[in-house]
Amino acid sequence: MDQSLDNGMDYRSRQRRVAQAVESHHLGALLVTHLPNVCYLCGFTGSAGVLLVADGRPTLFTDGRYREQAHAEVQGAKVIVPKGPILDAAARVAAGLRIKTIGVEGEHLSLAAEATLARALHPKTRARSTRGLIEEQRMVKEPAEIQRIRDAVRLGSSVFDTAVAAIRPGVCEREVAAELEYAARKAGADGMSFETIVAAGARSALPHGQASAQPIPRRGFVVLDFGVILRDYCSDMTRTVHVGKPTAKSRRLYEAVREAQQAAIEAVRPGRTVGEVDEAARAVLKRAALGRYFTHSTGHGVGLEIHEPPRVARGQQEVMQPGMVITIEPGVYVPGYGGVRIEDMVVVTTASCEILTPTSKELLSL
Ligand code: ZN
Ligand code: ZN
Repeated sequence: MDQSLDNGMDYRSRQRRVAQAVESHHLGALLVTHLPNVCYLCGFTGSAGVLLVADGRPTLFTDGRYREQAHAEVQGAKVIVPKGPILDAAARVAAGLRIKTIGVEGEHLSLAAEATLARALHPKTRARSTRGLIEEQRMVKEPAEIQRIRDAVRLGSSVFDTAVAAIRPGVCEREVAAELEYAARKAGADGMSFETIVAAGARSALPHGQASAQPIPRRGFVVLDFGVILRDYCSDMTRTVHVGKPTAKSRRLYEAVREAQQAAIEAVRPGRTVGEVDEAARAVLKRAALGRYFTHSTGHGVGLEIHEPPRVARGQQEVMQPGMVITIEPGVYVPGYGGVRIEDMVVVTTASCEILTPTSKELLSL
């Protein structure tokens, strides 16, 4: 049986595509050091790994801690466990290839790693920084990846009610986050995909209000933004609930964000740019005279990483294709008053998109 079909992930096509990219960029080889890219290309999930893509089979370098794990996980690549540091070893093997140019992931490389490469590579080999070579491939998900994302999203949404049940005036934000994370772990999550945001009252106006020791006030919005990791894939969702009866102003804010989010979702279809999606959300908020309170971009790609291309932001020209998975998360943040954000994950389909997040978007008042 073909091993690459084991978990439905098509490592062979991924390796073939990256080999083609290496060739079309006139590189003799590519040194992959960004771990999510290493995982994407060969299935390795350890925290120390470098993948050398050259002619023939790629080679994974990892250290002794991951010997067994690498042999169990890695598909379509040779595994080497060198005695010394793995980057040195990979660079030495690359030096033996006597190539003119080697691609490196400049945006993920430390100065120390650069120095190692300068020392260990062949003196006639030039390291050239490539940008997003593998990230570009990762934007369009395979069916097996979409299935994993669906599972992560479903698990993430399933703990929302637990978090809501923990919200009461006087309870601190951190306690709500703790209940949510505990429920996620019990439901089978491997971890959270980022630091859980619980931002209540005036703090809800902070787009990145990580759960603090602040008690939840008697009245006001509570923004919950969280995600889980399940079998390497991330989920991401935001809902905003209200403690006490919302004022007319609060209702108006909520409805405007909800309308903006809906408009952005309706703008998702293959052939359009992600910039148009951002514009759709922005136009609604501008009409509601709330444009200046929408201070971030509309969304981002999600997959092996919580934030990956494309950026769904103003002017972005990336064209949507079936299989891309992005978030749609407009928000408004009124300083000193409060904020609202609503976030779903969607997958681009052949005609439009499918919303993956099943949780209701009616304003809940507690
Ligand atoms: Zn989020
Ligand atoms: Zn997000």
